[in-house]
Amino acid sequence: TEKSEDNLRSPICCIMGHVDTGKTKLLDCIRGTNVQEGEAGGITQQIGATYFPAENIRERTKELKADAKLKVPGLLVIDTPGHESFTNLRSRGSSLCDIAILVVDIMHGLEPQTIESLNLLRMRNTEFIVALNKVDRLYGWKTSRNAPIMKTMKQQSKDVQNEFSMRLTQIITQFKEQGLNTELYYKNREMGETYSIVPTSAISGEGVPDLLLLLVQWSQKTMVEKLTYSNEVQCTVLEVKVVEGHGTTIDVVLVNGVLHEGDQIVVCGMQGPIVTSIRALLTPHPMKELRVKGTYLHHKQIKAAQGIKITAQGLEHAIAGTGLYVVGPQDDLDDIMEAAMEDMKSVMNRIDKSGEGVCVQASTLGSLEALLEFLKTPEVNIPVSGISIGPVHKKDVMKASVMLEKKKEFATILAFDVKVTPEARELADELGVKIFIADIIYHLFDQFKAYIDNLKE
Ligand code: GDP
Ligand code: MG
Repeated sequence: TEKSEDNLRSPICCIMGHVDTGKTKLLDCIRGTNVQEGEAGGITQQIGATYFPAENIRERTKELKADAKLKVPGLLVIDTPGHESFTNLRSRGSSLCDIAILVVDIMHGLEPQTIESLNLLRMRNTEFIVALNKVDRLYGWKTSRNAPIMKTMKQQSKDVQNEFSMRLTQIITQFKEQGLNTELYYKNREMGETYSIVPTSAISGEGVPDLLLLLVQWSQKTMVEKLTYSNEVQCTVLEVKVVEGHGTTIDVVLVNGVLHEGDQIVVCGMQGPIVTSIRALLTPHPMKELRVKGTYLHHKQIKAAQGIKITAQGLEHAIAGTGLYVVGPQDDLDDIMEAAMEDMKSVMNRIDKSGEGVCVQASTLGSLEALLEFLKTPEVNIPVSGISIGPVHKKDVMKASVMLEKKKEFATILAFDVKVTPEARELADELGVKIFIADIIYHLFDQFKAYIDNLKE
């Protein structure tokens, strides 16, 4: 048998933190792309996965430690959205991420979503590293592109160094108030007890080599067991989308196991389990993100951990955020179909039993859960009578129109990050069903509230 150290999969890392701290920009910086500027309101509300091969990490970190031994094949980074309610990415019940980067803006310190992310990471026992981002905004900062942070720090004026120390001390105190010990990573003698802080600039790249190296070294050192490759397929659907020439495809994160072309698979669908077989396994070129358009590499098989696009028949109603199962020769198909539908149960339980409430619609199970969670909070408190995932169609409008008889204001669809077909829009206007669409969850609430207030007047 292989020694476990020689058989590690890539760690899966997610980036969390308050909006505008630079999560997307940091990924862009590592990757050398510009996803950030194409986003709705600058907020990332869809999930992307990027694979960084070990060679690339070695190249990026050579100034730090030319002999750094990388035992993992690479690093798979998931760019999770910034909104505090987006907390729902899981794989077989546990967190999808092995390690996280918690991004803090050095000029702002800890913000509400930083604390939210922090609590979430603690709740799931996920290790994380703090990226203290935007150091280039310190007044008088001397840029030194992609340089290791210690080297850069030495080149800064006394004033810059003083401002840095002052802000760092404040932020360490803020973490302390949250019950957490933190320290600059190169001064941290007790990693595991004390969380490491890596100062970074996503604009000029200072500290990014340090961050990469620390992520890889820390995970391969402390998570050997978790990262030991397992044959049992563990896979989560991140996105369902139509791609020209491929039909409806799913983007997945394969955490463990191997997927083959032709494998029989089961995924959770809006109308029940979907049983199909893999037509093609596609990946973007290394270092590009799954979301970014481009040509794909075809594979006969792919081993975890990887972000993969799968094409197959019948994926139209697949639900993002749920598990993907492979049917093996020994497996009972009925059992697997049942297991695949488990993820939907928690969402179905959120629907108001009285049957009175608005209809909500979102792009993924994760974002639907986030929206439902938001609507349930006491300050918001909007009952929900129906849910759907994917674009708003005529049938969804029909469903919402049932409320016209009961409570007119609930004859409403709150559509988050999804399109509305022209036919659905036409029917809604005809019947008097309101459709509110937004890319940002709380904007939906604002719109709905304004509508209700208007009705009352
Ligand atoms: P996200 O919401 O956390 O994903 O933040 P973005 O990556 O979208 O960045 C928010 C804004 O901060 C954008 O205008 C970025 O250009 C800017 N920004 C991000 N990182 C840095 C940084 O290290 N330095 C400076 N000066 N600006 C940054
Ligand atoms: Mg972002």
